[in-house]
Amino acid sequence: MKPVTKNFRDTAASTMSDPNIQAALENVYNNFFKARIAAGAATDNWEELRTRGKAIKDHSIANLDFYLDMLATNVERNGGRVFFAKDADEANRYVLDLARESNVRTVIKSKSMVSEEMGLNHVLTGAGIETVETDLGEYIIQLAGETPYHLIAPAIHKQKSDVSDLLAAKSGGDRKEDAEALTMQAREQLRAVFQRADMSITGVNFGVAEAGGIALVTNEGNGRMATSVPRIHVAVMGMEKIVPSIRDLSTMLRILIRSATGQRISTYVTMVNGPRRAGEEDGPEEFHLVIMDNGRSKLLADTTLRESLNCIRCGACLNACPVYRKVGGHSYGWVYPGPIGAIVSPVLTGLKDAKDLPFASSLCGACHDACPVKINIPRMLLELRGRVVESDDPTENARGRWEPLIWKGWKWGMMDRKRFDRGARLGRAAGGPLANEGWLNRSVPPITGWTSSRDFPLPAKKSFVNRFAKRSEETSERSTDE
Ligand code: SF4
Repeated sequence: MKPVTKNFRDTAASTMSDPNIQAALENVYNNFFKARIAAGAATDNWEELRTRGKAIKDHSIANLDFYLDMLATNVERNGGRVFFAKDADEANRYVLDLARESNVRTVIKSKSMVSEEMGLNHVLTGAGIETVETDLGEYIIQLAGETPYHLIAPAIHKQKSDVSDLLAAKSGGDRKEDAEALTMQAREQLRAVFQRADMSITGVNFGVAEAGGIALVTNEGNGRMATSVPRIHVAVMGMEKIVPSIRDLSTMLRILIRSATGQRISTYVTMVNGPRRAGEEDGPEEFHLVIMDNGRSKLLADTTLRESLNCIRCGACLNACPVYRKVGGHSYGWVYPGPIGAIVSPVLTGLKDAKDLPFASSLCGACHDACPVKINIPRMLLELRGRVVESDDPTENARGRWEPLIWKGWKWGMMDRKRFDRGARLGRAAGGPLANEGWLNRSVPPITGWTSSRDFPLPAKKSFVNRFAKRSEETSERSTDE
């Protein structure tokens, strides 16, 4: 999938002026945010679980090579096959070759952000292989030809009437009005696809190294259908999605599910430990695990940003973020929206394509408070801002042509009292015709970015120092006269 993060400002502006999307974004706060708070409050050892979750992820990422090796060895011991892909192209090629070799005509997918990152649907459909999302939200956005809006609620921006139109257009039948009828309509459409699918592709919530298997968390049952019905199951995971043991998995599931939806446990938690064994009634004949790097090694090598690899994609930071709740998911342009996307995307897609993202934050710290593994997102956003501002590469540098010159001039003026006074007089003379009652409150080039959204005071007629000196003079004259 091609990153389009360059359009952050335009997309954010159009989202903020769309009342329907703004109404839908209220649900992020009213449903997910409040549900997470309630779930945390109802869990006696919530803070202890978060601390343990952070320790598990810190340890897993610090020993990533060891645990990836263990995972691969144990998956193969269980009868599965493992492929390490250095980037999305390699991962796509592996899946496509496998599909072709196995005469696959139809692929069903369970929700996977990594497959979005790979642009896998596009690759498979481009090769003539029918590829259908089976998570309801993902199915809706696939019908709409869009990308996910939220890490766990991909179609949260869609109104019921939008869904009604999309499903009716797909079936060629009547528009349904209520949520249950719409769900049944989608179910009928998807049931037929499940029956003819030869291959399933799922994401991975956690790879469990000691078990040689994967854990999947879903609420719709499509993940379990996908992992048991088709003859081939391919799971795709980012290389950071690993925990050492089943015991660790139990901790991580508790914090993931509460942070994502506020549930104590999701409707389905599915463990997949390889293909169907002799005597088992269901399960795939083949199980493949694709473990993708795609830039994560860069994050691993970057000691300041490495902590972002602890992310378990629960979406809590999006729900807590006052910026995400206004600008919505598509403004972030690539697969990962919200505060964590503002860190991951600039590294995975390149700073030049995502240089606005680190600035899409008020640095209020709500994301840090919400994160179940205590990722210090504001600290990393500040670091990335520094890199964007300091970069010598003009394609990465977000300051534009004027800003460095303005700051140089500012510094030069501030270093000398006379220069400062002259600068203030000049600023007043130049800004006077553009000011309104002493304020520059409309677009003033070349500082349009500032003045279009902030009122900037005109420099005073006389500086404080001059006024103070004059007043002292007058006071001393008065006392002499007396
Ligand atoms: S950064 Fe934390 S809160 Fe945000 S998605 Fe990742 S784990 Fe969840």
